[in-house]
Amino acid sequence: MRIGIIGGGQLGRMLALAGTPLGMSFTVLDPGESPCASEVAHHVRAAFNDADALRTLIESNDAVTFEFENIPAAVLAAIATDTLQPPVKALLTAQDRQREKQCFEHIGLPVAPWRYADSQQSVDAAIEALGLPLIAKTATLGYDGKGQQRLKHAEDAADLFAQLGSVPLLIERLVDFEREVSIVGTRNRRGDMVIYPITQNIHRNGILHRSQRIELPRDLKRQGIHNLRNLANTLDYVGTLALECFVCDNVLLGNEFAPRVHNTGHWTLDGTHCSQFENHLRAVVDLPLGSTLSEHPAGMLNLVGQMPPPRQIIQSANTFLHAYNKAPRPGRKLGHINVIGMDQPSVNAQLDALERELGIRSDT
Ligand code: AMP
Repeated sequence: MRIGIIGGGQLGRMLALAGTPLGMSFTVLDPGESPCASEVAHHVRAAFNDADALRTLIESNDAVTFEFENIPAAVLAAIATDTLQPPVKALLTAQDRQREKQCFEHIGLPVAPWRYADSQQSVDAAIEALGLPLIAKTATLGYDGKGQQRLKHAEDAADLFAQLGSVPLLIERLVDFEREVSIVGTRNRRGDMVIYPITQNIHRNGILHRSQRIELPRDLKRQGIHNLRNLANTLDYVGTLALECFVCDNVLLGNEFAPRVHNTGHWTLDGTHCSQFENHLRAVVDLPLGSTLSEHPAGMLNLVGQMPPPRQIIQSANTFLHAYNKAPRPGRKLGHINVIGMDQPSVNAQLDALERELGIRSDT
């Protein structure tokens, strides 16, 4: 079976690695010279708005999917067929924070109070309406904390609109959350869903630093699963998706969702019967979904900016390294470490020890 992937980064690479044992072969479309997925897949070098190249990818593969969401959705919408999954509707919703918030409200998922702003005047009106502290985010093209600014004092907002590039913004009340969690699952064409155990996520500088499985109180868990199902159903979603939420006073507030495999699900490569990557592929080619049963507690640590030698990382039998073979650069995700253990406190302690030994600062 031939699978096309729009984007050739680490997510494309891990999709190709997961699908190869199923007899799938992969082509990634990416404008880079040698994106990291090109080590394990055929690479077509083309821009993400190259309609001809995208059409050829769709016509010459049995299924086509994408591994990141900043693809010009209008270009894709014009040429998409049923071969492309998840649907462009999901991409369009996730690409625009206003649409995304409206979608959450539509399915009944509470969100932090927010306003849309497309001028300094409307920024000032949002501050007036919401009060401080706030977080301003560019409505589109933000990722890994880019295009965001926190506002504690009214004077910081004087030229906020210009500071963030004079583009439409979403201004949100800064939530004093207890923790951040994500719910990752996979939906097939018939609407069946499998859902992975929920993880708690810790970010540094807006970039995911660490995820670890967490047993939430029953009601919160129920809210998380219910909202993920509703979101996937409302988008006619096919594939793996991730819903990121804040836990506040026994309520989940929706922050954002990713219409793709997600960094907070990377632990599933070693911690479940069928990973988020394999299940994504099973869904898009319409194979039965695999078991998300996870017999052991698990956690994941991202390797950002620099890559320690494997020997320093793999010091025990329950530690697993996934390196993306990307050139080091500050703030760049280069790999991740999964730890699978007998109980969650010992997995968390092992992640703490790895942070210390590898000099991965957890306070930045
Ligand atoms: P985002 O790009 O929306 O995921 O934001 C990146 C990170 O900023 C989140 O993972 C949170 O840690 C933090 N953040 C975003 N929005 C809010 C909010 N409304 N209140 C508090 N923290 C936030």
